[in-house]
Amino acid sequence: MPETTLYPLSGRRVWVAGHRGLVGSALVRRLAREDCEILTAGRDSLDLRSPDQVDLWMKNVRPEAVFVAAAKVGGIHANDTQPATFLYDNLMIEANVIEAARRYGVEKLVFLGSSCIYPRLAPQPIPASALLTGALEPTNEWYAIAKIAGLKLCQAYRRQHGCDFISLMPTNLYGPGDNFDLQQSHVVPALIAKAHQARATGAASLSVWGSGTPLREFLHVDDAADGIVFAMQHYSGEAILNLGSGEEVSIGDLARMICTITGYSGQLAFDVTKPDGTPRKVVDSSELRAMGWQPAIGLEAGLRQTYRWYLDHIGLTKGADAIRRQRAYG
Ligand code: GDP
Repeated sequence: MPETTLYPLSGRRVWVAGHRGLVGSALVRRLAREDCEILTAGRDSLDLRSPDQVDLWMKNVRPEAVFVAAAKVGGIHANDTQPATFLYDNLMIEANVIEAARRYGVEKLVFLGSSCIYPRLAPQPIPASALLTGALEPTNEWYAIAKIAGLKLCQAYRRQHGCDFISLMPTNLYGPGDNFDLQQSHVVPALIAKAHQARATGAASLSVWGSGTPLREFLHVDDAADGIVFAMQHYSGEAILNLGSGEEVSIGDLARMICTITGYSGQLAFDVTKPDGTPRKVVDSSELRAMGWQPAIGLEAGLRQTYRWYLDHIGLTKGADAIRRQRAYG
């Protein structure tokens, strides 16, 4: 661990924008271990796409530190089919929060991007220097363009206004609190939900989108939250930082792991009418690791814990009850 903490959170008023999402809720759990005041605003009372609402909220609440975990997010299908929403909502959210943070003197802000900001065929593991060196993956370019604008806003506000705003690019995240809706979700929650249902209904096969060959790096969201808080405390600079586990797996092997965890023993049916997306996406997280952060939750343990969360919170069907009794998960 570094000896000095650049920005201690103790005693500070900290706003987690997007506190109900996968990352935001993990940040709230992680920040409970810091001696800080956690500020949140529900979607019903604050629409982050509205400049006036964000300005008023910031003026009244006056956070000292801000995590921009709010975003319109979704898996490969949602990204591909709602381009306007993914571009507009994310541009508005980040521009409103970053500008209001400047206006009301926020001391430190962490903006969260995504590993999809990098070119489709970037060198692997992807260094931060690969940004804007090539064409983006078309299935998520709307989201990526918005996130590139967000990290550029942080860099521009740092240069022009001297704001201590930093950006982190997390790899593919998963964990408790994820979206398990099959049309919107990323691959981990989708396969957990599908394998669970396939087991409950005794289905002969499980549909896996694409060829199963793409490689993805997965990071448990509690590790991500720990890295994000760590960066707020220990990093100040214009360069973007990557946040990943280094644990890479093919989609086919991921599906097999999830079948084992959920107890589903049928066949995998690869649906090649669905897109593969980028062939490989593992980020180079060596800079954050050199500062002293490292992940703690391995993929298999993290998937097991996520499935338990799913059973507790979502899979409340007859099938889930039967599986719960049989597996006696703890
Ligand atoms: P990506 O990393 O932006 O491509 O996001 P996703 O998590 O949505 O997809 C990762 C990979 O998993 C892609 O190759 C998908 O085709 C594949 N995949 C396989 N089955 C599914 C599924 O049921 N849902 C999703 N979202 N992806 C799936």
